[in-house]
Amino acid sequence: MPLLENYAPRWVEVDLDAIVNNLNEIRRLVGIKTRLMAVVKADAYGHGAVTVSRLLQSEGVEWLAVTALDEGIELRRKGIEIPILVFAPLMANQAGLAINYRLTPSVHSDAAAQTIARAAKYRNQRVKVHLKVETGMGRIGLSPNEAAILGLNMAQDPNLELEGIYTHLSSAASNRESDRRFTEGQFRRLMEVEDFLSRRDARPPLMHICNSAAALNRPDMHLDLVRVGTLLYGQYPYPEAPQRLNLKDPWKLKARVVQVQDFPAGTSIGYGRTKVAGRRTRVAVLPLGYVDGFSVEPVPRPRGFMDLMRYMAKMLLAWLGMSVGEAAAVEIEGGRAPVLGKVAMQFTMVDVTSIPKVEVGSLAVLSARRTTINRWLPKLYLQAGQPWLVSTLEGEEPMFGLRTADTSSSKEGV
Ligand SMILES: *Cc1c(COP(=O)(O)O)cnc(C)c1O
Repeated sequence: MPLLENYAPRWVEVDLDAIVNNLNEIRRLVGIKTRLMAVVKADAYGHGAVTVSRLLQSEGVEWLAVTALDEGIELRRKGIEIPILVFAPLMANQAGLAINYRLTPSVHSDAAAQTIARAAKYRNQRVKVHLKVETGMGRIGLSPNEAAILGLNMAQDPNLELEGIYTHLSSAASNRESDRRFTEGQFRRLMEVEDFLSRRDARPPLMHICNSAAALNRPDMHLDLVRVGTLLYGQYPYPEAPQRLNLKDPWKLKARVVQVQDFPAGTSIGYGRTKVAGRRTRVAVLPLGYVDGFSVEPVPRPRGFMDLMRYMAKMLLAWLGMSVGEAAAVEIEGGRAPVLGKVAMQFTMVDVTSIPKVEVGSLAVLSARRTTINRWLPKLYLQAGQPWLVSTLEGEEPMFGLRTADTSSSKEGV
């Protein structure tokens, strides 16, 4: 039985109401003329692709998108019926599978179009595809000229139906003038393809370019459909983004303390003895480590010269043995507990000396990059603030008022 309590006491909590809130905020942003494609790649950015897709489908979302074919197949096997666009190029032997699972392929080359057409013909079908145009990401797609010609030829092909043409922006998450101009160049190149096809009566119904950043700051580029991931999961795509939506964060990583111990000054903590306690230290152990995808965030690349100076000043202070400001920390019993030493494979130690309430079973909330948290961590889905569904690698289990040790015995509640 895939109950939460059978797993190590750490889990990801996902508030489904927050996702619905964000969905409605995005709908308000783009208006009724622009359709919404909800991006659920990478396990719905760490929120659980199957449960999130079911939710979005029931909320009337028209389109989903994933990167890889196998992500789309999983959703179909779990009963998702709405159209799903697959971003990644298909390998030649995947075309049949994509058609069998009614997934919408992206076409990134003439050869790919032929392969899909052949697989469609063999099945006596007409398959909808989206053309991917490379306009400035340096990644995947046909050049605008190739796309225009292929788009025109497709109108002749009885087995292919050109439903959409799209490109992906590389620099929309920036307010810099040079980046804005670059984005406009990408948009213009896509519009040239549209123009060419429109004049020959071959414009597909769905032209699209916007990711979250552009959906937010380029209403002039919304076109027929926007592909949104980041905003749906409650995050702005970049720190200086215009905060014009009332987003809610659905995601929390939680773990319970499995041991608390006092160590005298001079005790080394963790692998490599990178940390030596300077004073008597109370150490709490959390059952979560780098194999779960929990790691202390790397130092970000400095954003400019002043940033670089600040960073170098901090390193200098650290070298002189002085404080370097905020270390990575977890929230626990109303306090902040800094991470001690290296995060190990499946354990993390934190300093709770100044939070006397912490005991075995205390609940810690950790910040982490959600897309890299391992899928095997169980997920607890909340609806109306209540535990509603537990999802683990073994399967899903509705909560139906059932309380596990992980929820009812918690002082904090969930
Ligand atoms: C990931 C992705 C998106 C969504 O990007 P967000 O910035 O998370 O909204 C849109 N289009 C493509 C092709 C993507 O790969």
